Amino acid sequence: MALRNCSNCGTLFNAINPNMRLCAQCEEDEQERFDRVKEYLKEHATATVIEITKATGVERKEIFEWVRSGRIEIAGIEGLGIQCESCGTAITSGRFCVQCAVRMQQDAKRALGGRKSQRESAPRSKSTFHAANSIMRRRRDD
Ligand SMILES: [Zn+2]
Ligand SMILES: [Zn+2]
Repeated sequence: MALRNCSNCGTLFNAINPNMRLCAQCEEDEQERFDRVKEYLKEHATATVIEITKATGVERKEIFEWVRSGRIEIAGIEGLGIQCESCGTAITSGRFCVQCAVRMQQDAKRALGGRKSQRESAPRSKSTFHAANSIMRRRRDD
């Protein structure tokens, strides 16, 4: 546990895990807004971000965060401007487009496989690190 300032209201709170960035109160508020958006999307699957913002009162910035972290998917994503971090294609969720995600998975597998045949007991974390490294390199080249 570590004391941390809530990224929304600035209150000091005890972060149980390193991913926590909101105090309990703000976390609860966020969850409430998230549920509202989720609920709205259930009935309006093709709604754009602008429509969602209007209907739920939730800020674009926040919706963007949720889409980015893969918590929700939105059909009318153009207004958000989310792009694949690798090739720049417009995407609706997460950080990479399907093609890049598949390619990276294959790259990672190949890296793991190659290492495995050389040395069966190679530590997994090392291979993962290598795969991540090659992804970073490729991104810089783009
Ligand atoms: Zn807070
Ligand atoms: Zn891509």
